[in-house]
Formats: sequence, C-alpha cells, structure tokens
Amino acid sequence: MIPIAKPLLGEEEARAAADVVLSGWLTQGPQVQAFETEFAATVGAQHACAVSNCTVALHLALLGVGVGPGDEVITVSHTFIACANAIRQCGATPVFVDIDPDTFNIDPSAMAAAVTSRTKAILAVHQMGMPFDVAAVLDVANLYQLPLVEDAACAIGSEIEFDGEWQKIGKPHGAVACFSFHPRKVMTVGDGGMLTTNDPDLDRKFRLLRQHGMNIPDTVRHSSKTVLFESYEVPGFNYRLTDMQAAIGRHQLTRLPDIVARRRALADRYEKSLADIAGVRPPVEPAWARSNWQSYCVGLPAGVDQKTVMNDMLQDGVATRRGIMCIHREPAYADTVCPWPLGESEAVQDGCILLPLFAQMTEAEQDTVIASLKSAIANQTSNGHRSPKSASQRSPVNAA
Ligand SMILES: *Cc1c(COP(=O)(O)O)cnc(C)c1O
Repeated sequence: MIPIAKPLLGEEEARAAADVVLSGWLTQGPQVQAFETEFAATVGAQHACAVSNCTVALHLALLGVGVGPGDEVITVSHTFIACANAIRQCGATPVFVDIDPDTFNIDPSAMAAAVTSRTKAILAVHQMGMPFDVAAVLDVANLYQLPLVEDAACAIGSEIEFDGEWQKIGKPHGAVACFSFHPRKVMTVGDGGMLTTNDPDLDRKFRLLRQHGMNIPDTVRHSSKTVLFESYEVPGFNYRLTDMQAAIGRHQLTRLPDIVARRRALADRYEKSLADIAGVRPPVEPAWARSNWQSYCVGLPAGVDQKTVMNDMLQDGVATRRGIMCIHREPAYADTVCPWPLGESEAVQDGCILLPLFAQMTEAEQDTVIASLKSAIANQTSNGHRSPKSASQRSPVNAA
C-alpha cells in the first residue's frame, strides 16, 4: 500500500523525547523555549509561541487581533473545518469567499465584496502549503484596515518572493501566522502548533492566554532565587505544548530543508509525468511562490467520476483523498449565509484528488501512482461515465 502521507521520524526524535521524560521536566519548559527560538529563526520571525495544536493557535491569533462576539471574519470555505471552528470559538461568524482554482487559495478579487461594518479580520490560508497571494490580500486588508491572520498550518518551509527577496511563510506577512505539527503536515510532533508574530504585545498576549492568564511562567519561578507569587491577569486557557513534543520538533526542524527539497523534486516529477494524461490538471505554482507541497492536488478530466477513480486506485494499493472539504456544505455550518456561489471551491472538492507525496517516497512508488491514475481514468473514458454537474450549473449557496 502506498499511503497518502507518512511522517519522517527516526531514532533521534525517539531519543529526544525519552531524554525529556528522564529529565523530569515534561511540559512547557526549556525544550519549548528552545523550540520557539529555533522556529522563529527558521521562518525569520521575531517571536514564536508554541501551543497544543494549530486550531488553538488560530483561536489565540483571532482573539489577539481583537475578534469577539458579533464580529465577522473573512475566510475561505475550501479549507479544514478548524478555521471556521476557531472563528466560532471567538463568538464570531465566518464569511466565506471563493478560491482561485489554480492555486486553491483565496481569490483576492472576491474579498472586497465580503467586507461589512462588522468585519474584524481576514483569515487567509496557505492551502496545502501553497502560499496565497500575500501582496494582493494585504492590499485589501490595508485598504479596509483589517488585520490579517495567516493559516500556515501546512506551510512550514514554503516561501514567497516579497519586497524583492525570497521570504519564508511565517515571517509573518500579516499580524500573525499559525502552524500545525499534526502528522499530516510537513513536520510533526504528534500534535502541536506555533504562532509567529513581530508584535511583542501580541506575543505577550498569546503567552498569557496559553497558560491560564498567569503572568509568571513556571520557568521563571523555577529559576528565581526569591519566592515569586503569580497573578492571573485575564481568563485564559490551557493550550500548552509538552517538552517531549518540543524536543521532537527541534529535531524535525533540522530535517526540514531536506524534506522540503525532496517533496519539491517529487512534485516536479509529478508535474512532468501528468502532462501525458489528457485532461489531468496539475496544481499551478505562481512565479512568486515556492510550495513545500504538503499535499499534491490534481484536477480530474471533465466527466470522470472522482470516487470511482479513487476506488480503482485503492484496488491498485494507492491511497488518495478527495479535494479539500468545503465547510459550508457540512451540517455544522448548514446555517452559513453566503450571498454568492462558492462554485470553484465546490468544483475542487468534487473534481480533484490528492495523490500520495512524502519524503521517503521512491520514484518507483511514484511511477506506480501515476500508472494507477492513468488506468483509472482510462477505465472511465472507455466506459462512458456521465459527467458530474459543472460549477456553473450549481445554485448559489443558500440562495433564497
Ligand atoms: C491541519 C490544519 C489545521 C488544524 O491543525 P491542527 O494542528 O490539527 O489543529 C488548520 N488549518 C488547516 C488549513 C489545516 O490544514
């Protein structure tokens, strides 16, 4: 079986975690501090604050830029549901805009129409590791004086050309960027998250909120020569990362350049090979972007049924996933009011599949995937399956 993804972990990570267990300090201690420093240096940010996962990072980021009950946050529906959940967690409402079908990222030209007097922030996603058009999104954000939160859950190691140089995603280019270390992402600690910012006040807020609103961290009390009494300045949360996870993360950071290079080489190879399969659309990397290719999403030829292709490939021992979900189609967000169609988002969910991609993948495995996709498509084009509805035939979301 060729899996959709596989984390790259070794003896070093196992030993790093074991060393922490034996050290006696297990959560948000010296390893978390070192991981934050090294992570900030990796992406070029002034501050990095580690938390339990990216979902809570998004929650803190939105709270940090002032999102509260009754507010609206502009985002995409075509993303993992955590984005909308984090907005709801603040008591605010997600307002979905459509995507650019080439990059699977927010369409900046659709954003202005979504701004209302209640709009408090923009949450844009570097989907599947592909940077969104930061300059165009910032133009809209600045025009309406809205803070930009970057969902960089999948984008560690991705880069954009900005101010005439290549910069890492997470520098950050908005107010805050949020990363995930779930095993499906390019580096992992099991579960974990990170917030990066260049605003010291925001960083202070994140540190306060992630540990119950407590003003003196354990590390400071522990090393103090005099007794320190903490106080609790705001109602907070327990969003800590453990030191075992941070120690794993520190070793993952050292692997990151090789992991990204390997993924880029495999993505390049996919693009060249897929050119031979009529109607298959590989993802588009703009000239100003370098993706880490956290996922590799391809469009199927018109008229080819997605689930049948996926089932055929599964029979060949090749795991795939359908295109990224659309939040507005899920029961949890059935009450979403969206005055325009999200046709591109829906077309990607229904008409694209993700192909296996991981650093340890061999070229032979990749060739198996390509051959399997080719024959699955050939099966259908010769059997004459009916085409699914095209985007233009769909009705607007919740149109009256
Ligand atoms: C994975 C993911 C998240 C959630 O990350 P967790 O660390 O699992 O909470 C959020 N947004 C996007 C776009 C993701 O892909």
